[in-house]
Amino acid sequence: QSSNLKEVEDAQKTLIRYCGEFSNFIAEKAFGSYIYDKEGHAILDFTSGQMCSVFGHNHPKFIEILEKSGDRAIHLLSSILSPSVINLSKRLASELPDSLSKCIFLNTGSESNEVAIRMAKLVTGGFEVIGFSGSWHGMTAGAQSCTYSKTRKGYGPAIPGSLMIPAPYEYRCPIAHCKGSCDHTCLEVGMKMCDQQSTGAYAALIAEPLLSAAGMIELKPDYIKRLKALCDERGLLLIFDEAQTALGRLGKTFAFQQYDIVPDFLTLSKTLGGGLPLAAMVTTKEIEEACHKKGFIYVTSHVSDPFCATFGLAAFEILYEEKLAQKALELGKYLKEQLIKLQEEHECIGDVRGKGLLLGVEIVKNRETKIPDDTLGQNICNRCLELGLNMNIVRMKGYGSIFRIAPPLTISKKEIDLGVTILNQAIRDCIK
Ligand code: PMP
Repeated sequence: QSSNLKEVEDAQKTLIRYCGEFSNFIAEKAFGSYIYDKEGHAILDFTSGQMCSVFGHNHPKFIEILEKSGDRAIHLLSSILSPSVINLSKRLASELPDSLSKCIFLNTGSESNEVAIRMAKLVTGGFEVIGFSGSWHGMTAGAQSCTYSKTRKGYGPAIPGSLMIPAPYEYRCPIAHCKGSCDHTCLEVGMKMCDQQSTGAYAALIAEPLLSAAGMIELKPDYIKRLKALCDERGLLLIFDEAQTALGRLGKTFAFQQYDIVPDFLTLSKTLGGGLPLAAMVTTKEIEEACHKKGFIYVTSHVSDPFCATFGLAAFEILYEEKLAQKALELGKYLKEQLIKLQEEHECIGDVRGKGLLLGVEIVKNRETKIPDDTLGQNICNRCLELGLNMNIVRMKGYGSIFRIAPPLTISKKEIDLGVTILNQAIRDCIK
């Protein structure tokens, strides 16, 4: 049990509280699946940091890059390229279908979505962007406008043209239609509602393959196919936000490869840098050329960052050398089975869902009523931390607490067992 309460209180004198409350754990070191405080207390990381540390903490390949960085340029004027940026662009093009051949490197997921939205607007001449209600695409104006409304509270309206469709939440059908198996009625209805609000200026629809902040809701292959068809009918360009899912987490290098579709824009962030601030936005040659002709510009201080791009190259090496996509599928299946066993024991686990190593556990008052139990969810999460397990809660208004379980893909089966044992103990302690 670790508590750095005094230091945290002290830190709050100088730090803005950007996420509500800070944890009482101050991380001194991190290695593999564990984070340590200065007394050496360890917590098992079931969150991969902010879902970025897919290769665990301080992967030896990352340390090697840091040690060998020597006199390599770490920052350049945005018009000057470096070998790492050129090579990573080639690597991405070689990993992706021929049509997705053009990319730009940025630092955050917000930015990668912002660029995709800007390009979609420029190339279509439209401005309307459809997102999934409850999703999270970032904190910059365009990305935030298609993000969970709670993040905009107090800051006035979303930018004009921001539209929402409901997430296909099978456990609680958003239109009270399906009984457990989504037949896409929510999608058809949602699209029709957008059509009624549209001024005929559609630009894009943005989606994650597994809607994470929206409640850990997987978009199934037939749903995605229908979604793409509906976009095509309306001239909506499809932005696939793979901030959390790319680089193996759902069992493929990129999650969209599981479906028979290719998006118009692919946005990569969190996992691409494995913890370093690296993001990319990939699109087609045609879209890039059309935007270029229209004077497209997107320059930030850290665009084409030569230092971070080096870690992107290492990320692909680690992914394949350690067969992490395959591992995510196998370990994810195992972890899900263990969580389902917990559900059999504990009435408060309403649902276990997700794919690969991106799983959700929904906490309810009881399984019959499915009434959310926010307090219990928070208590379990707090108790997990006391017992040595770092967990994350996705909190959807009206839907209560959903644990997002997303350990590093390098995690071992033994560590998974330990995490499940701690979660089990935390639930027992909290329902007493
Ligand atoms: N897209 C998704 C799916 C995300 O989960 C996030 C971050 N939670 C973002 C975009 C924004 O990324 P960043 O925080 O790096 O700006």
